[in-house]
Amino acid sequence: MKQNYDIIIIGSGISGLATAHFLRKLKPDAQVLLLEKGDRAGGAIKSFRQNGFLAEWGPHGFLDNVPESREILRDTGLDKEAQQAPLGDFYRYVCHQGKLVALPQKPRKLLTTPLLTISEKLRILGDFWIKPKKEDQTIGAWAARRFGKGVLPLVDAALTGTFAGDYQRLSIDSVMPGLRRLEIEHGSVLRGLKQKAKNKKSGPLPAMNNFPQGLERLVEVLTKDKEIVFNCPLNLLKYHDDIWQLTTDQGNFTTSSLVMALPVNGALPLLSQLEPPPLAQIPVARIFNVVMGFTDQAQVPYGFGYLAPENENRFTLGAMFSSHMFPNRAPDGHVLLEALVGGRRHPEKLKLSDEEIISKVYADLSQLIKLPEQPVFVKVLRPESGIPQLEMEHPRLLNWRRGIEKNYHGLHILGFGWDGISINDMTKSARQAAEAIVAGRVSPPENAPVKPVYF
Ligand SMILES: Cc1cc2nc3c(=O)[nH]c(=O)nc-3n(C[C@H](O)[C@H](O)[C@H](O)COP(=O)(O)OP(=O)(O)OC[C@H]3O[C@@H](n4cnc5c(N)ncnc54)[C@H](O)[C@@H]3O)c2cc1C
Repeated sequence: MKQNYDIIIIGSGISGLATAHFLRKLKPDAQVLLLEKGDRAGGAIKSFRQNGFLAEWGPHGFLDNVPESREILRDTGLDKEAQQAPLGDFYRYVCHQGKLVALPQKPRKLLTTPLLTISEKLRILGDFWIKPKKEDQTIGAWAARRFGKGVLPLVDAALTGTFAGDYQRLSIDSVMPGLRRLEIEHGSVLRGLKQKAKNKKSGPLPAMNNFPQGLERLVEVLTKDKEIVFNCPLNLLKYHDDIWQLTTDQGNFTTSSLVMALPVNGALPLLSQLEPPPLAQIPVARIFNVVMGFTDQAQVPYGFGYLAPENENRFTLGAMFSSHMFPNRAPDGHVLLEALVGGRRHPEKLKLSDEEIISKVYADLSQLIKLPEQPVFVKVLRPESGIPQLEMEHPRLLNWRRGIEKNYHGLHILGFGWDGISINDMTKSARQAAEAIVAGRVSPPENAPVKPVYF
């Protein structure tokens, strides 16, 4: 096996694969190698097929509102295969006082939603007069101060749906840096958003993308023509005279450009061989996916799914109405629900047996949705990957990363939980890293975009 490469990428999840994809475009002559610990590429992305049902172990799709992901789809021809579920066409529900209530699809619909009382709606406008705080805050404290406590269940639902996280612990500066920048620049979030809307014509809501074979199709296509060594975890790294020496289970490799495309907790033990990080690990929220197939007697409301804030005291975090979102997810005459359990606040639920989880999820869902007595298919998926939590210590970690990227030439650090947690965050960072490698510079600190929050 060849030992020296121009660029070596550690990890063949979407971060590593997308970086390799962009490098192929920007520097076609470069010899690029991916080293992968496991025996398959894709990391958290993995589809599940059984008895005509198609579900996902990890991500259930990605929105088409990020140019880097759209570029990958176009370059690979996957744009012609992609199935789209437009957010504008599908309701999303919140569990509110034991019932599913549709979220307002447009800001002006906020006026009539039963999810907030009149005084809670009026209190949101208080944001115009509240001075921004400079220091970081938890999202809960920040939202309560700016918009009033009434919005907290909705904030909770949004962060359950994205991070499976705890809004009383997640950091506003790390999770929504763009929105914070807007708040500080304009003295108010609403004023900032108004200004932004003036400067930019708003288009339709984005669409969720997936593929007829499941999200794994993205991995399958990106893996083609890439040089990947499987079962090859990186164990040791050394830097000497601008050269990286890598020790793996399958021998030693050298390179001048090293891309660490790993989840934060996978990268920290390796990077600590260079300089001690301020934290050994960050918290991770694991979730299980309870895949349930029913006959179409199940009266699943039209929409994407629902989320349950903590104050509703439900067993399930929420469920996706997967066969409404995308065709071919269930056999004819059937529907597919995927219910999520666990998260940052309830790791104890993950210790239950499959039977216990299934019966509690069924009991919970059947109070909200009219379901037949039994599912025709059920499976508990227990993914190993958890969602990294960008909590109050996170900014310290990012400062430390900036330091080691400057101190160690050719080092680029990206991946799950560094600059975000979504697939779109990963493709964005991947393009930035590829551009930085080609230009021979450090990956730039991002002028964070204002990311809209979709439930
Ligand atoms: C349950 C769940 C649901 C999610 N839902 C969504 C969603 O609906 N939409 C969305 O946009 N995002 C979602 N995400 C997030 C999305 O999955 C991640 O953004 C993305 O998969 C992260 O990709 P990555 O390549 O950075 O990390 P990973 O996917 O974790 O890949 C890292 C790779 O590195 C390998 N590796 C680890 N250590 C080493 C080592 N020492 N040497 C070599 N290789 C190593 C691993 O084996 C793995 O293959 C979800 C995540 C989870 C867990």
